Amino acid sequence: AEATLEQIKEIIKEKSVELLHLQFVDIEGILKHVTVTSAQLEDVVEGKMMFDGSSIKGFSPINKSDLYLQPDLTTFAVLPWTVEAGYSEARFLCSATNPDGTPFEGDTRNVLKKTVERAADKGYTISVGPELEFFLFKNDDNGYATTELTDKAGYFEPSPHDLGERVRLEIYRALKAMGFTIEASHHEVAEGQHEINFKYADVLTAADLATTYKWVVKTVAKKFGMHATFMPKPVFGINGSGMHVNMSFFEGSENAFFDPADEMQLSEKAYQFIAGVLENVKGIAAVTNPLVNSYKRLVPGYEAPCYIAWSASNRSALIRIPAKRGLATRVELRCPDPSSNPYLTFAVIASAGLDGIEKGLEAPAPINDDIFHMSEEQRAFRGIDNLPGSLAEAVKELEAGEIAFNTLGEHVYNEYVSLKKAEWDSYRTSVHSWEIENYHSKF
Ligand code: GLU
Ligand code: MG
Ligand code: MG
Repeated sequence: AEATLEQIKEIIKEKSVELLHLQFVDIEGILKHVTVTSAQLEDVVEGKMMFDGSSIKGFSPINKSDLYLQPDLTTFAVLPWTVEAGYSEARFLCSATNPDGTPFEGDTRNVLKKTVERAADKGYTISVGPELEFFLFKNDDNGYATTELTDKAGYFEPSPHDLGERVRLEIYRALKAMGFTIEASHHEVAEGQHEINFKYADVLTAADLATTYKWVVKTVAKKFGMHATFMPKPVFGINGSGMHVNMSFFEGSENAFFDPADEMQLSEKAYQFIAGVLENVKGIAAVTNPLVNSYKRLVPGYEAPCYIAWSASNRSALIRIPAKRGLATRVELRCPDPSSNPYLTFAVIASAGLDGIEKGLEAPAPINDDIFHMSEEQRAFRGIDNLPGSLAEAVKELEAGEIAFNTLGEHVYNEYVSLKKAEWDSYRTSVHSWEIENYHSKF
């Protein structure tokens, strides 16, 4: 909803908003905020709030550290859990600007805005519906997260097995009060795993919603003595958490991916988009799947993809085309996980798809058989390649391709690559509990 400054002032008065949180994300998509009083609203709106960019991961060097926050008025929301008689708090999501008022190139929200502009130049608006899964763990008496799951329920199981029903209800209420349109909520396949779905939106709004969703889920869970994690594979041997990204391009009010005359009711552009994503997916995986842990989710047998193929309905494929057509025609990319920065993830997926459309790439034949149960030879025969198997491989692919560099821009790209290399190096040189278990007494 497009909120004007006048409407915001009204709400501030009516809801007695005393504090305003100015929020933004760092290069990893981690939410940060600085809090000011609502008496400062005018200055806030004029982008006069300064912060130290050198203390934000991936932002600016120490000698050029002054940055400013420009709030996006459409993201104004009262925080439902702060509301009491005569008091409440609200937030804005912001983009970072340089002292001269230009967009700061290290801010990933600005990176996504650039992709939005590039698509708009070609006549497209990008629409995205992300599906973020998460786990609920118990907190200890001091409020710290344990590794003990909160229930043993499975897919679609109701109470008394699902012990996340109450917390999901409160998350639903909070998100709804903040302007989300919630579509569904359910217990997921794994023990302690949940999903709450919200309605698709334009890509920038969708990234804002995903960022807000992660914060609200964690905040509400904590009130129930639970720790919500978006870590992709928190428990070995059961499903991990994905952030499937449903994307479509619109030309005006028409869905550019829909063609009723086609056998699959997909347009030529939809096939080219699919081809572009398949072609570029290895080069963007370090963005869509950013952690060492991300690659422990992308293994056979857990409804997460590990092979590069597409299909109409196959959950073992990387790209699925959900059954809905018409305005709801979309491509579902299943590799991204919710630990990724939604601004960067949506930007690189859109770029990969645009690349396919611009080059007129041809999609390979869909794979409708269960890929998890094919042998390596069968996969090779059908030309099915693998996703990167580790963060190290993914970073190599990222550096080999051009999509990530062109989409992220020099600043974010360089920061991102060095961050991920350092992360891999730290992991590579650590001694893990698996090694102790398997080697310590034996050798
Ligand atoms: N949890 C699965 C994943 O890791 C997805 C399950 C589903 O299809 O919703 O992506
Ligand atoms: Mg799911
Ligand atoms: Mg899905």
